[in-house]
Amino acid sequence: MQAGFIGLGSMGEWMARNLAQAGFLSAVYNRTPAKATALAKELQVLAYDSPEALAAKVEVVFICVSADQDVIDIINAIVNTIKPDSIVVDMSTVSSATAILAAIKLAEKQVAFLDAPVSGGVEGAQKGTLSMMVGGETKTLCRVHPLLETLATRIIHMGPTGTGQGTKAVNQIMAAGINQAVTEALAFAAAQQLPLPKVIEVIGGGAAGNWFLEHRGLSMTQSVFKPGFKLALHHKDLKICQAMAKQNGASLPLIDVTVKDYTQLITDGYGDEDISALYRLKVKT
Ligand code: NAP
Repeated sequence: MQAGFIGLGSMGEWMARNLAQAGFLSAVYNRTPAKATALAKELQVLAYDSPEALAAKVEVVFICVSADQDVIDIINAIVNTIKPDSIVVDMSTVSSATAILAAIKLAEKQVAFLDAPVSGGVEGAQKGTLSMMVGGETKTLCRVHPLLETLATRIIHMGPTGTGQGTKAVNQIMAAGINQAVTEALAFAAAQQLPLPKVIEVIGGGAAGNWFLEHRGLSMTQSVFKPGFKLALHHKDLKICQAMAKQNGASLPLIDVTVKDYTQLITDGYGDEDISALYRLKVKT
C-alpha cells in the first residue's frame, strides 16, 4: 500500500519519515513547498505541488495540518482526484464535526475516512510511539493498520467517525490541566529558591510524575520554550472543547482559565512558543 503525506510540520515530518522507513511512503506535499522538496529528496519519494496531484497517485492519504478549515480545504482539494477505494487518515486535531463532514464528502467518491488524532508530542512522532485514537469503520482501520503501526504503539478504535476527535478533545483538556499544574508548581518551587533540577527529578519519580514534567519541566525553568506543541495550536483545540461543552452541557472552568491565559500570551507574541510558555505567567517578574 503506497501512501502520500500532506502537512510536514513538527509532527508530520517525523511521521512521514517513519512511514518512509517502513517502505510505505511514495509522495509528500507541504503548503510551503521547500519543506516537501527537501524531505522528498532525502527520503527518495516524490514531492507534489498540490494536494490533488498527490491524492491522484496514492492509495492512502495522510493529513496532519493545523486546524479545521485547513483540513476542510485539503478535503475539498483532493475530493475530485482521489481514486475510489482509497483511504484518507486525518491525524490533525480538529472537531468531531469536521471529521464527520470530511467523511461524508469522501464517501460520495467511495473513499473511506478515519479521524486518527494522536498524542505523544514531537518526541512520540519522532520515535513512532504515539498514542492514536481512531474513529471510523473497523474494516478501514484493519486495512491501514500496518501503516499506523509505524507511527503509534497504541492504536485504539474508539467508535464511529468523530469519536477519535472527541477523545482527543478529552486529551487536550487533561493536557491543559497538567500544564496549569506543572507550570504553577515549578514557579512555586522557584519562588522558594529550591534546586529546580532536583525538584523535577524527585517529583518525576513519584505519584505526581508525568510526561509534561519529564519533557518540558527543566526547559521551562531555563526560559526555553521551543515547540514541541505550539501554544496557538493548543488554544485552537481548547476553543473546540469549549464549543463541544456548550453543546453537551459540560462545564470546563479549567479550560476557561487556560484559554484566557493563552489569549494573553498570544497577544504578547508567544503563540508560536511551546505550551510550557504558560510558565511566563506564573513566575514572579
Ligand atoms: P505545525 O508544526 O504548525 O505544522 C502545521 C502543518 O500544517 C505545516 O506543514 C503547515 O504548512 C500545514 N498547514 C497548515 N495550514 C495548511 C493549509 N491550509 N493547507 C495546507 N497545509 C497547511 O503543527 P504540528 O505541531 O505539526 O501540528 C499539526 C497538527 O497535529 C495540529 O492539528 C496539532 O494540533 C496536532 N498535534 C500536534 C502535536 C504537537 O505536539 N506538536 C501533538 C499532537 C497533535 P506550512 O509548512 O506551509 O506552514
